[in-house]
Amino acid sequence: AANAAMDAINALEDNFNCYVTVQEREAIQAKAEELQKKIDDGTLTGPLAGVPVAVKDNMCTKGTRTTCSSKILENFEPTYTAEAVLNLEKAGALIIGKTNMDEFAMGSTTETSHYGVTKNPWNAEHVPGGSSGGSAAAVAAGECSYALGSDTGGSIRQPASYCGIVGMKPTYGTVSRYGLIAYGSSLDQIGPMAKDVTDCATILETIASYDPKDSTSVKREDYDFTSALTEDVKGMRIGIPKDYMGEGLDEEVKAAVLLAAKKLEEKGAIVEEFDLSLVEYAIPAYYVIASAEASSNLARFDGVKYGYRTESYEGLHNMYKKTRSEGFGPEVKRRIMLGSFVLSSGYYDAYYLKALRTKALIKQAFDKAFEKYDVILGPAAPTTAPKLGESLSDPIKMYLGDIYTISVNLAGLPGISVPGSLDSKGLPIGIQFIGDCFKEKNIIRAAYAFE
Ligand code: GLN
Repeated sequence: AANAAMDAINALEDNFNCYVTVQEREAIQAKAEELQKKIDDGTLTGPLAGVPVAVKDNMCTKGTRTTCSSKILENFEPTYTAEAVLNLEKAGALIIGKTNMDEFAMGSTTETSHYGVTKNPWNAEHVPGGSSGGSAAAVAAGECSYALGSDTGGSIRQPASYCGIVGMKPTYGTVSRYGLIAYGSSLDQIGPMAKDVTDCATILETIASYDPKDSTSVKREDYDFTSALTEDVKGMRIGIPKDYMGEGLDEEVKAAVLLAAKKLEEKGAIVEEFDLSLVEYAIPAYYVIASAEASSNLARFDGVKYGYRTESYEGLHNMYKKTRSEGFGPEVKRRIMLGSFVLSSGYYDAYYLKALRTKALIKQAFDKAFEKYDVILGPAAPTTAPKLGESLSDPIKMYLGDIYTISVNLAGLPGISVPGSLDSKGLPIGIQFIGDCFKEKNIIRAAYAFE
């Protein structure tokens, strides 16, 4: 598998640009041989042993630079490794590189990266989605066997949907955020991106753990996610929010969701439509909360502690100002300004507090839905992958594209995107399954029965 991934990297990477950093071929080969020896003598077992994985470049990897696709972290080499990546290393995974992303995970297309755009392997004129676009494209192009992504408002599920792979965001607290460079701390979750649901469940089983180093980590009783790979959806109650099927949804995507519903019905599930109110408030609430948290989280990048520092300056404040002006890209600056504004006294109540209240109401609406349904079914994104360049000129349009994914983060729920049919342009359509908190097994069951 390692050789196949490296061959694909050699052949395709110049065009697709999935990675910010690829390990040296010799280093990968040496590591692969070391792991193979352990597999042969029986000291290393398990499904991920020796399998090549790509890691999104916002997860710290000791000794390998971790850039968040930003200029400000161009030469940042962490002194420790993220817990989720450590869990992979313990399972004998072979880390072959760090994948491209939107700068600090802010974006939906991987076009805000300082290291160039990533292209969609299905059609190189289109974006791979984002912010985990490099991870999704690397899996789709065979430049790794699977990848890790992070999802604050859809960044695993949406690129998975655009690239025709499976991507899963676990319940908040399931995978440790220790060593994940924070964007919106109350929303961020690491999750698997892979070719199929079986791989995703297997990877999740490996990366999920209780970690006292992350104060929001949850000690769960069930880490046996693969036990849900049964294909049995008889009697499963599935709800489709009417609000997810209306205005703004591409007709071909809508048809693919209805086709998925039909397939599950044929397998014995009970599918019906219902009203999930408040959907329209999710986007403003999310962009207020995520930007507020980002403005605070990104305060640490000041030219003193990490990475880039401006070359010439007069005094400390001028150094901060020049470093941050030169080090951050336009989308990141936009979020920092928005976040600082909504947190400032005088506006805090009107925006930030209101957004938090909206978040609580959205959670309540989902709680109510899960009294009736085991799983919620809908699209992962309103359209298939847009063309390169289309979204950059219109950030509001880009934000609106997050409509079906962000409420899942606001409510802390698990969600998975699985490839449905292709549209008439030959681009993949993602079908999303959403579960109640800690009910990953329900969405794994539904997704596995569907794929
Ligand atoms: N597109 C959303 C944003 O820009 C989601 C990003 C993410 O999940 N990291 O904030």
